[in-house]
Formats: sequence, structure tokens, C-alpha cells
Amino acid sequence: MATRPHVCFDRILPRELMRHQPTMPGRAGRTRAISPIGKTWMNGSTLHVRFVGGNAAQRAKAQEQVGWWEAVANLKFVFDNAPNADIRISFDANDGAWSYIGTDCRSIPLNEATMNLGFLDGGTAAHEWGHAIGLAHEHQNPAGGIQWNEQVVIREMAKSPNFWDAETTRHNILQRYRADQINGTSFDPKSIMLYFFPAEWTTNGIGTEANEVLSAMDKQFVAGAKMYPKTAPTVDSATPLAVNARQRTAAAIGKFGEEDLFRFSADRAGHYVIDTRGPTDVVMKLFGPNVPTALIAEDDDSGYAYNARIGADLIAGDYWVQVRHYNRESGMGEYTVKVRRA
Ligand SMILES: [Zn+2]
Repeated sequence: MATRPHVCFDRILPRELMRHQPTMPGRAGRTRAISPIGKTWMNGSTLHVRFVGGNAAQRAKAQEQVGWWEAVANLKFVFDNAPNADIRISFDANDGAWSYIGTDCRSIPLNEATMNLGFLDGGTAAHEWGHAIGLAHEHQNPAGGIQWNEQVVIREMAKSPNFWDAETTRHNILQRYRADQINGTSFDPKSIMLYFFPAEWTTNGIGTEANEVLSAMDKQFVAGAKMYPKTAPTVDSATPLAVNARQRTAAAIGKFGEEDLFRFSADRAGHYVIDTRGPTDVVMKLFGPNVPTALIAEDDDSGYAYNARIGADLIAGDYWVQVRHYNRESGMGEYTVKVRRA
């Protein structure tokens, strides 16, 4: 086996650690709707980045390769070394390459890295940026695609430079996500989120290539309705909602890929409920307080029928609500939205 793959690993936080810290703990029996399942940033987000170490060449490489995503996704990256940066990048050569996934980065203490670029060959930085904007490993796509020879994979990953035990290899390579854990497409052998794996690691002799640039499907997916469409409204154009307004606010999703953004101010701490009504099958996300990149909760159909409902104990501050269609068939039409303090 001539080449040993450089395998990056996901750092996925347990669900209860993904809550943004200022959110107050839910009261007993009321925590259900606060469990976040999504990891994408709000569409149109500007993400601030801080480097922790690294030389000029390493930093330039990291900055160059995020540009590949920025060209297609409705996200902006600002390298201002902000003290409260959303993404912090270290370059520890002894710690491999890894990144937390999407909004999980917001749950990591601000003095800790959310990404390490211990090596930078090929498209490694672009791959880690893929994680940072919410993408998972293509080799764990539930649609499959690789027929692992599990014993060989476990044996090879136990050797230098990885020294992984069987459990780590199972978690990072062999296990697939459940279909309901990810937004995704069919298996893409050209994805930058796929690593090189030798043919000897499979039972059918079909390995994978080292992909060093974004594939057509990578670009299509991040620019698509489930990720960061450039045509959608951004945080600056959010429609204001008054808390406890007499009337529900009417809205409509007219075409596939459209999303609506609302904002409201909580003038005091309390239990707030945001819900939609209508025949439209929607997914709702709540961000804040005061930081539109911090995901608090996501819900699809806790409300009546296909409607979404999020109940959360919130501190005073500004919040953003994003509503998207659920899928191509059932996501379009009129709905209303309301926020009330219980
Ligand atoms: Zn990876």
C-alpha cells in the first residue's frame, strides 16, 4: 500500500452542548423543541475568522481555498482576527486536519481553535472549510458508494500516522449517517468532502480518488436551497415581527429554494414561542441573541400538521427566524408566522 490517506475527522458535538450559551436552560418538560439538528449558518452570514499561529504561506492557502466556497455560497468570510471570531484556525502539525461542523463552531470556547490545518496538501483547506460551513464527509453518505473491507480499513488506520483504534475508525470512516441526519444528495465520487481511499480497502476493488477541487455537485449543493442560495434574502433584509402582535404576519414561499427571514426583539427574558400556520410544509430556525450566526433551535413539524414551532427560554436581545420550504413537493404556498411571549 504505497500511499496512506490523510484522513480528517469530524468533530461533532453532543446535542446538548450545541446550545448557544446565553440560552437559558429549558424548564422540565419544555425542552423538546429546543434541540437543534441543523448545523448550517444563516444564509447570507458574514463569518469572522481568526488565525492562531501559522506562517504567511499557510494563512494565504487557508484564505485562498475558502474563496472556492465563497464564489458559490451566499456566505462572506472576513479575516479580521476578531476576538469573538466564529471560526478560529490553528496550524498544529502534530494534530492532523479537522474542523467542527458549521454552527457547532459557535459552541467552542472563543480561545480554542475550531479548525486545525496540520497539513495543507491539495484541497485540504477547502475540505476543512467544507466542514466549517456545515458539510459532512462524503464517504459517510447514507447513499453509500464505498464497499469497505472493514478488517483491512481497521488494520491500516491502526498504523502510523493515524494510530486509530477500531472504534475511532468505525466512527470516522465506516459508519454512515442516517438519512435523516443530513441534508444531502446521492453519493458524489468527485466531492472534495471525499478522501482518497485505496482500492485494497474495499471488497469490490473500487477505491476513491483524492479530489482537490470542488466538484460540480459540491458547488450545486452549497448554492442550493438547503444550504446557501445567493438569491435568498439576507440578515439585513429580515422582516420585523412584533412580539405578541395582534395579527399574525402573512408570508409566502413562491418557488423552490426561497426562504423568508424575520427578526424580533425580546425586551425581557422569558419563554417565547414562534410558530407558523398554513398548508405549507416548512422548516424553521431560530438564531441569536444579537448574533445572527448563532443557531439556537431548528424545527420542522412540531406545530400543527406541517407547521413549525419553536419554544425557547430566551434572554433579552435580538433574534432572527428563518423559514424555508421542507422539500420540492410540499414546500410552497402561503403561511403566517407569529412570535409570542408566554
Ligand atoms: Zn473531513
